[in-house]
Amino acid sequence: MASHSHLEATVPQRLRILLISSEAEPFAKTGGLADVAGAVPKALAGLGHDVRVLMPKYRGVERHAGSLTPIIPRLQVPIADRTAEGAWLEGRMGAGIPIYFLAQDQYYDRDALYGTAEGDYWDNCERFIFFCRAAVEGLRQLGWTPHVIHANDWQTGLVPVYLETLYRDDPALAKIATLFTVHNLAYQGVFWHYDMPMTGLGWDLFTPAGIEYYGKLNFLKGGLIFADLLTTVSRTYAREIQTPEFGCGLEGVLQERSQALHGVVNGIDYEVWNPASDPAIPKGYTADDLQGKRACKLALQEELGLAREPAPLLGMVTRLVEQKGLPLVLEALPGLLAGGVQLALLGSGEPALEQAFAAAAATHAGRVAVSFGYDAALARRIYAGADCFLMPSRYEPCGLGQLISLRYGTIPLVRWTGGLADTVKEFDPAKQAGTGFGFAPFSHEALLDCCRRALAVFRQPRLWQRLVRNALAEDFSWEASAREYVSLYRKAVKAAAP
Ligand code: ADP
Repeated sequence: MASHSHLEATVPQRLRILLISSEAEPFAKTGGLADVAGAVPKALAGLGHDVRVLMPKYRGVERHAGSLTPIIPRLQVPIADRTAEGAWLEGRMGAGIPIYFLAQDQYYDRDALYGTAEGDYWDNCERFIFFCRAAVEGLRQLGWTPHVIHANDWQTGLVPVYLETLYRDDPALAKIATLFTVHNLAYQGVFWHYDMPMTGLGWDLFTPAGIEYYGKLNFLKGGLIFADLLTTVSRTYAREIQTPEFGCGLEGVLQERSQALHGVVNGIDYEVWNPASDPAIPKGYTADDLQGKRACKLALQEELGLAREPAPLLGMVTRLVEQKGLPLVLEALPGLLAGGVQLALLGSGEPALEQAFAAAAATHAGRVAVSFGYDAALARRIYAGADCFLMPSRYEPCGLGQLISLRYGTIPLVRWTGGLADTVKEFDPAKQAGTGFGFAPFSHEALLDCCRRALAVFRQPRLWQRLVRNALAEDFSWEASAREYVSLYRKAVKAAAP
């Protein structure tokens, strides 16, 4: 029998890691998953690991991938009672990292990733069953076997299921460990039970202890039950999703797997987000010379038609959805304006919220400025020009806005939930420690109270400058998070060892 120390010795220094994701920057993106899947491999490679990525070959990925080499030109994948043919094509992402694109034009050569304004594609279940099964089938032929597969979100949820069931006895795959990351529990990949035979999995798995969920098939649940280790994108969110309030119906499953569930906070790319060299902002700045930040604020006020006065300027860059706490901002607005603040909001999303903010801007011209649509350059000018960045989210798995604002010396005002609670620290004027301000109850009174505390410090310029320097001194680059993933990969490899 192998001793513990012997097992440890079997985990090599340099890990072979396959990250599987349905999207990755710069190839295809609908949300934060793409940022993570684009950045984590680079950070892992930087730590010396042999990391590779697998994603679908959507229309247009060649634009960023250059020429692609067919590495498995014809891959037969069982689906329902037939087989569908696909191919693995190899390209490179930044830093020379190999990326495999799963080509199957009927499934993936489309205008969008998951659907159009009319709704999701009708065959998403089939498209991502194929993705998961072709991942496993491809690994039998690739000639490179990872120590660990890092799968992400519902689109990859069946990968751990296949490895633990249909392919359990395959000697080429038997030792592969799996780590499954949930980026937002609200998206689960739920399909009607008639799709179950397409998976090739036995009906014995279609139970509450398996991948059945209130009579339907649930991909995410498959990943949660069958992966060796689970992560989500902050420690607080990892705790929250084990409760009915945040668990989206899967809290029971997550409680059962609580020992395997970890929180690893996302980072941001410190080269992409850098106030010293950002070409989109009018003047660069650093912690040692904040002159440029003042220029950015004046330019932003000018650009958005806000009064050029020394009022504290609150910024928001956000999807306009209830999750982001926008109703609280509307309710708190009269109180905020009475306190003398200005608000600059950039957002896109629900028409009702757009209308409400447009009306507020019309009523309070010169004090409230709103811009609708997705505008990456204006977003940067807000991150740089605002004094504070507002994120009163109802829930927030990790959140990137507060990390970017810290990087730009813009003080986050947040609700204490998920990643916001893990990355922002309440400023203590006596100790001059902390990086922002927060509140817990989901109410506009609590939000107002939080803003009042911020304003009290804002009125003391030297104290405020100290706070800004504290924010600028934080480090949420990817390296620390990548190290945490590596130690979890090692743990998963040990757990999966026969
Ligand atoms: P979520 O992924 O839930 O929308 P995050 O805070 O994790 O929230 O990430 C949002 C990212 O998208 C941030 O980088 C933010 O700057 C950016 N963003 C959101 N809305 C807009 C917009 N309208 N224009 C430009 N960038 C936006």
